[in-house]
Amino acid sequence: MQNLLDLDRPALVDWFAARGEKPFRAQQVLKWIHQQGVDDFDAMTNLAKPLRAALNVGACIRGPAVAADQRSADGTRKWLFQLEDGNRIESVYIPEADRATLCISSQVGCALNCSFCSTARQGFNRNLSTAEIIGQLWMANRLLAADGEPPVSNVVFMGMGEPLLNFDQVLRAVHLMQDDFAYALSKRRVTLSTAGVVPGLERLARETDISLALSLHAPDDALRDELVPLNKKYRIAQVLQACKNYVGEGRRRVTIEYVMLAGVNDSDRQAHALAALLRQIPAKVNLIPFNPFPDTRYRRSDARRIDRFRDILYGAGIVTITRRTRGDDIDAACGQLAGDFKDRTRRRARIAIEVRGGAA
Ligand code: SAH
Repeated sequence: MQNLLDLDRPALVDWFAARGEKPFRAQQVLKWIHQQGVDDFDAMTNLAKPLRAALNVGACIRGPAVAADQRSADGTRKWLFQLEDGNRIESVYIPEADRATLCISSQVGCALNCSFCSTARQGFNRNLSTAEIIGQLWMANRLLAADGEPPVSNVVFMGMGEPLLNFDQVLRAVHLMQDDFAYALSKRRVTLSTAGVVPGLERLARETDISLALSLHAPDDALRDELVPLNKKYRIAQVLQACKNYVGEGRRRVTIEYVMLAGVNDSDRQAHALAALLRQIPAKVNLIPFNPFPDTRYRRSDARRIDRFRDILYGAGIVTITRRTRGDDIDAACGQLAGDFKDRTRRRARIAIEVRGGAA
């Protein structure tokens, strides 16, 4: 049984061609699924009856199930989605005056083990399929429509997982987000955030032009090695060069994400070092006040420190904004997504030993 949420337009055209159907069928069906939110072939009234019957036998349209639906006092909404294998992932809807952003997950858990992120604590299970990635958007729009809330206008890959380590599935989902017969989101409205997987960045530059965010978090390699262990493999200079190549001629700026950790990466000296580092690339900075989670050793920088850090960057000519914390009352803020899944890396067990004071 083929879940049609797994297929982008070229794949759906092929799927229909194998059944003797013309390419425009793919366009019709994509519109029903992604624009109308339909999951019932019998509702697809512009398809001939025999085709609908064939679809009922060989295909399905199945998104993730809603395991929990929480609303924050500030309007943010978090869904816990249950996948067919029982794993659970989270997506966050963030409505604003001029847009409605959906923050989606690309993996069940995350293997990168960034020291300040709660998803990392949960360990890693597996990559999401295209259907599971686009299914978060598809379900969100269906649920929002049912409640009379505005549909998603922007998507950010800033939920659980490292999207560039699940490249093929993520890219196929991006194709659907941008397809005029599906979500028709412009390149400005789809942002991929990465911890800096250099080969993935190089491939991304060849295959798409969506917006890019880099989780930098430190102005020097020694500190970044500690915060983002992936840095031991891909150094800051190499990662920034890959970002620079990505935004290239005619593309926009890279968003640099920088989590504000009290006494760790928030000094004046570090702000100046960051400004110097970013002089060579078209960047804007997003300062993210750290969002705490149980057992973390980090604290959020206070508001005055964050303002001071911002002013130094600003003074160096770098556009800098402080990301407003949204949805923290329902653990939906950056770095708080945990989902519910089986950790295959045994990281949770290892951390439990460390916390009890045993050997790492
Ligand atoms: N793996 C990708 C996608 C995750 S994006 C990446 O690293 O970019 C999630 C964003 O939230 C990243 O910028 C991440 O560094 C940040 N983040 C993680 N934990 C956080 C926390 N506890 N408080 C604030 N931001 C956090």
